[in-house]
This record gives sequence, structure tokens and C-alpha cells, in this order.
Amino acid sequence: MRISSPTPGKTRRTTPVAPIAAAAVLALSACAALPGGAPPDPSAAPAPGEPGSGRPGEGASGGSGAGEVEGEGRLSGMTVVIDPGHNGGNAEAATEIAEQVPAGPDTKECDTVGAETDGGYPEHEFTWELSTLVRDRLEEEGAEVVLTREDNAGVGPCVNERAEIGNEAEADAAVSIHADGGPASGRGFHVIAPGVLTGYTDDIAEPSRRLARDLRAAFEDGTGQPRADYIAEEGLDERTDLGGLNLSDVPKVFLEAGNMSNPTDAANLADPEWQATAATAIADGIGDFLAE
Ligand SMILES: [Zn+2]
Repeated sequence: MRISSPTPGKTRRTTPVAPIAAAAVLALSACAALPGGAPPDPSAAPAPGEPGSGRPGEGASGGSGAGEVEGEGRLSGMTVVIDPGHNGGNAEAATEIAEQVPAGPDTKECDTVGAETDGGYPEHEFTWELSTLVRDRLEEEGAEVVLTREDNAGVGPCVNERAEIGNEAEADAAVSIHADGGPASGRGFHVIAPGVLTGYTDDIAEPSRRLARDLRAAFEDGTGQPRADYIAEEGLDERTDLGGLNLSDVPKVFLEAGNMSNPTDAANLADPEWQATAATAIADGIGDFLAE
């Protein structure tokens, strides 16, 4: 029941994970939870939330499932999972999203509330809006696109479920879309690839790095958004504490499109025109990866 209720027939699958306890609980900045306003986020730590509301098997047509949308574009035959970070109902479901779920060698909170701009624009709304635009772009190029949640009014899905959706879809690439809640003085975007974790990500680390580089190149070219100056290195990071990456069996990265705490980034992130440009850039980056 941590999944949004309005989706009957969902199969909940929990990836079995060996309970090795190498607890390295990292409190790295990424999608910092809301400082105020939002209900208690148990681990005040900025658990980099992964998005989602599991809809395993949802097809390219996005909504109703009626009809084929696949075209004849360069991505014809490709499947891409786009994972909009967090969810609009998370803030009111503190207990559910605080539940520990498998996240690799360790467990992690099911999901988090996400960041927010000073103006009150929440990360979950940003990720939803941008993700649907990215979906549209990719479909125009012929890809089959699966979103990990069906709207912005649900709860979760949990990070492990978000990874499982990509695995079930046997995605050629998966991108989790977020915006960070870093220090107000810092701006810019970064892409997070999975670090090598034997038994988890060793099989996807290399292609995921390529995906990260392609996405970085297309995103900065397309949006003019600078590489983050407060986190990561040259716009690229690798982490082993994100369940959404650790449990993925397909090439996957997180995009932190900007810093919601920074006024300049925040203005961009909330701007529909910027979002449209960003969506095209993200789709271009994914397309470049898939074309390699
Ligand atoms: Zn986030």
C-alpha cells in the first residue's frame, strides 16, 4: 500500500537481495528533503529519492494503453524507462515512504518527499512535468517509453520498485529525473551513474557511464545549464548508495537537472519553456547513447 492506490492489478515485486550488512550510510547531497513544510522526514538526510509509482509493464502509449505510438524514428525498437523522482502524495504518507526497502547491500527508505524551490515549486511536480515531456520526445523518435509512475498524485513507488520496472521492461536505457536541494550558492546539473558494486552494478556500470556522459553532453549543449559547482566532478558523479541504481539490471543514471535551492536554477527549473528545451536535450542524450 505504499503504492498509489488507484492502480489496480499492479504486481508488486520485491527484488530479492542478499542481506549483506555493509552499512555505509551516506548522507550525500541530492534531492535534499524539504527543510520545512513537509512532514517529518525521518532521516533528515537528503536521501536521494528515487521516484516512482510502479507500473510494471506499462507500454509506450503512456496513458490508456490504447494503440501503438511507436513510430519509425531512430529509436524504433528501443525501450526507455523514465523515472520521475518522488511523487505528489509522498508528503502525506510519511510512514509509508519511510519504510525500509532493499536498496542493494543495505536497505533504504522507500522514497522521499524531494526538494522544493523557495517559491514553492516541488521537485515531484518538476520531475513529473519534465518526464512526460521527455516521454513525448522519445516516442516521437519511435521509442517505447515506460514511466515509473502514472501521475503526480500517488505515493512512491519505492526505490526498489522503480529499479524493478526498468528490469521488467528490459529497458535499453533508464533515466531517473530529479532536481537537487543543495546549498543556495551552488548551481548546475549533474548526472549520477552507479558505482561498481559486485553482484549489483558490476554488469551495468560501464554502459551506465556511457549513458551518463552522453546525457551530460546533450544536456549542457541543449540547455546551457552549467555543470554543478557544488557537487560531483565535471557534472558527473558515481554513487553506490542509491537503490534505484544498485538494483538496476539495465543501464541507468540519475539526472539532477539543477539545484532547486539556487535562485537562478530554480527559475529555470520552473519555467515551462526551459523544461521543453531540457526535455529535448535529455531525449537527445538518451538517443545518442542508444545509437552507439
Ligand atoms: Zn530527487
